[in-house]
Amino acid sequence: MQENDRKTLPCGCEVQTSRDFLGRVVGTIVTRGSECPRHEHAAGQVVVMPGRDNARPGDR
Ligand SMILES: [Zn+2]
Repeated sequence: MQENDRKTLPCGCEVQTSRDFLGRVVGTIVTRGSECPRHEHAAGQVVVMPGRDNARPGDR
């Protein structure tokens, strides 16, 4: 997982990834996917990236 990378989410949105102050990988929505069902995925919104990128030992 690269930081400051562009990724396309499964929903089709394109995000710019970075790390927040907790060390989690988050994505800032750059382009909203035309098929995206999630209204919170608006351009400029920050979402926590799903999946193992955020799995850390001792985390729940
Ligand atoms: Zn989306």
